[in-house]
Amino acid sequence: MDIKNDGARYAFVVRWSDPMTQIVWKYQFMYHTSDRSIEMYEMKNQKTFLKRVAYPALALEQLYIGSTILVYSRQLFIEDYGDDFTRKHLRGLQETTLAMIKPDAFQHTGQILECITANGLLIKNLRMCQLSVPQAEEFYKCHRGKPFFPCLTQLIASGPVVAMELVGENALCRWRMLLGPTSAEVARIKAPSSIRAQFGTDCTRNACHGSDSHESARLETCFFFIDRKLGMCARFRNCSVAIVKPHAVTAGSAGAIINRVMENFDVTAMELAQFTRATAMEFYEVYRGIVPDFLAMTFELGSGDFIAMEIADKQNPCMNPVNKFRDLCGPADPCIARSLRPHTIRAEFGINKVKNAIHCTDLEEDGELESQYIFMHEYALDGRAPPALVSKAPCTRKIESTDSSEYSSSGTCSGTTSGSSSCSSSQSDRGPPPPRFSCRA
Ligand code: GDP
Repeated sequence: MDIKNDGARYAFVVRWSDPMTQIVWKYQFMYHTSDRSIEMYEMKNQKTFLKRVAYPALALEQLYIGSTILVYSRQLFIEDYGDDFTRKHLRGLQETTLAMIKPDAFQHTGQILECITANGLLIKNLRMCQLSVPQAEEFYKCHRGKPFFPCLTQLIASGPVVAMELVGENALCRWRMLLGPTSAEVARIKAPSSIRAQFGTDCTRNACHGSDSHESARLETCFFFIDRKLGMCARFRNCSVAIVKPHAVTAGSAGAIINRVMENFDVTAMELAQFTRATAMEFYEVYRGIVPDFLAMTFELGSGDFIAMEIADKQNPCMNPVNKFRDLCGPADPCIARSLRPHTIRAEFGINKVKNAIHCTDLEEDGELESQYIFMHEYALDGRAPPALVSKAPCTRKIESTDSSEYSSSGTCSGTTSGSSSCSSSQSDRGPPPPRFSCRA
């Protein structure tokens, strides 16, 4: 029977942190597959919190331990299974494994992500890292002493890797099946459609890694995702920020969008993360009172996982890429993009002005600030305030125009604004920092 519609009721323990009071509430969360309905009970006081109601936006695949779901604007973190029936039925279906794109296949990250989602695996966590040789040796310590060990660790430290925690039924075996044989040359003969056959070169440079046991998966996941500063590679200068929005990640379009970005720009940092509603609002603060869709935009950005990237110019890394990258993204309104800039990312992947596939930095001077906000984890780790997101330059922020008449043929928006108090505030004006966005540890 199809597990997604088996008539079963699955139970989870979820927690919600009230952003106003900081109180953490725990709920029993029920999901009925027959009609995609949900119900919730507040655990401490044993009270009904939400009567059974259809909630078709939520799919069973999204309900796994460690995931965050959005229910009526609340971000609920799934902490555990709620009963033995759910544990027994879903544990096998929600296995996790560690995947790593090696430096030799880094340029194919988008295609590899497409392959992962096309094969029904979910990306629970993702980080791009630049490992040192000692860090690569630590990761591959089980191979220490083997003849290929020096070549392997030098390869891993020779460029960026993308570590991913994948989740799905038999995720470990399925990912290794997708990889194919260790040697890319053998893979091309025995499994020509495998990832290693397509993107690998030889036995060492074989595109990707996959955990070989559940214990390795656990240890390797901890290696990459406990210390968020490990191998941090963002540059924080001459950069723009791209965020593949939650709706596009959910739709499985992240790989194709990353392809488009990587064809045209260098990606110098990448990470899957989430914003709370408060941080989504802070991130978009400069649009408050200026863009009519401000609230809907913050809602979308805080609605689930996004993939953020720091972008640099391919030809000239010293050049500010902000405007060039905006050209690739296209007009904020995908309808306008489809008629005026049909080859842009928003024309291809956007749905409407709010779900327009990708965020890109607006002002040249904001690229570094946005990158620091997203990627500078020591702010989160040692309690220092995150950098102000609002440019200290006089406010001439380009509004992401939604009116085709304001969209000039050069691909930049002509609508500008000035005088908004939020646009000229500095960090010291802004009071204590709000909570940062969350990465899954
Ligand atoms: P995997 O599980 O298929 O990745 O293979 P292993 O865990 O056995 O080895 C780890 C990595 O070491 C492989 O992905 C290769 O990059 C490299 N490697 C393994 N065996 C050899 C070999 O015989 N020769 C060379 N040059 N590299 C190897």
